[in-house]
Amino acid sequence: MFDRASVVTPGGVNSPVRAFRAVGGTPRFMVSGTGPYLTDADGREYVDLVCSWGPMILGHSHPEVVAAVQEAVARGTSFGTPGEGEVALAEEIVARIEPVEQVRLVSSGTEATMSAIRLARGFTGRAKVVKFAGCYHGHVDALLAAAGSGLATFGLPDTPGVTGATAGDTVVLPYNDLDAVRAAFAAHPGEIACVITEASPGNMGVVPPADGFNAGLKELCAADGALYISDEVMTGFRTSKAGWYGVDGVRPDLMTFGKVMGGGFPAAAFGGRGDVMAHLAPAGPVYQAGTLSGNPVATAAGLAQLRLLDDAAYAKVDAVSAELRALVGDALTKEGVAHTVSAASNMFSVFFTDRPVRNYEDAKRQDVFRFTAFFHSMLAQGVYLPPSAFESWFVSTAHDERAVERVAAVLPAAARAAA
Ligand code: PLP
Repeated sequence: MFDRASVVTPGGVNSPVRAFRAVGGTPRFMVSGTGPYLTDADGREYVDLVCSWGPMILGHSHPEVVAAVQEAVARGTSFGTPGEGEVALAEEIVARIEPVEQVRLVSSGTEATMSAIRLARGFTGRAKVVKFAGCYHGHVDALLAAAGSGLATFGLPDTPGVTGATAGDTVVLPYNDLDAVRAAFAAHPGEIACVITEASPGNMGVVPPADGFNAGLKELCAADGALYISDEVMTGFRTSKAGWYGVDGVRPDLMTFGKVMGGGFPAAAFGGRGDVMAHLAPAGPVYQAGTLSGNPVATAAGLAQLRLLDDAAYAKVDAVSAELRALVGDALTKEGVAHTVSAASNMFSVFFTDRPVRNYEDAKRQDVFRFTAFFHSMLAQGVYLPPSAFESWFVSTAHDERAVERVAAVLPAAARAAA
């Protein structure tokens, strides 16, 4: 299948990290998923610790989500008009996340961050955007600037195709460094439209914000008249009922969502302060649109998933995550492999270093070759991890004792492989 795919699709995949480039080998083509398990095209079963990069927080093929989707599909798949499902999903988001007074639905996290930034620029009349090295906000041109390179780089395109002019208004700063943010506001007074940050980063591996970092960002933004945008595409509806906002309580001006809120379908959103959202077309002048935005099938899946995510569900995901973190840590310790298990609520990842990881530069100092050995051993033994040392691992309510035992049984060999 990979050979076939490689003929008709660049690199054989529709999103680069799926290609196993970082770890080598051939990506697995999955044909079905049930609960915590995935089955590949060769009939091998895996305990899934990727959960589609976050969305599948109830596990695969949850019967109530599947039923909601079937019911929605039977009524028609797209109308291009307003519909009840999108209103219900928006109401659910607004009810859960207090700073979100209004929300606009889109189809991907990339669209959400791109639109939030346009709105911030339109609202403030300013051009510059501050982002942090190692934070990923989708493949928005302006946000790919130095997304994976050195510290405090100013306006350098990080990929061919992003022009210097596009990236020139992006200020990239080291994560968890409020002094750098203070310096940026001092260097560009009245010019910064917004600071966008992952609420708790998961795209350089899991690197939670230091105490007071998000609150400091909010304060500096407010003092200068810039907007504070919290990207909760990954953390939203996952790290708690109200996402990372439910954990740290720092009130953003705008927020972005995706992944969990779509129940495995392409649905995402951005929202926040009513006076800012009122600038969005057709209420206001900032244009934003989408043929499939608020799609009835996607919104039915998202709503069904969110309605099942009560306190008990989060307690379960948190508990499984804690259990797995302890098991992985113990196995690596037993083999004397230097590591740090880093967690933000139930999101976690393993850095193959025992030095503290507070930003992207720290994360890059790990022994990536140990992750590669660990990854392939786990894969060969039927556990599917993200194929990169710079990604979060995800679990679901469906990861029961049997699934955890299967992981526990293969960890010693994987830890030996990494030693
Ligand atoms: N923002 C964050 C924090 C993400 O993790 C991602 C995707 O991983 C995105 C934005 C982009 O979302 P999408 O892949 O749906 O475009």
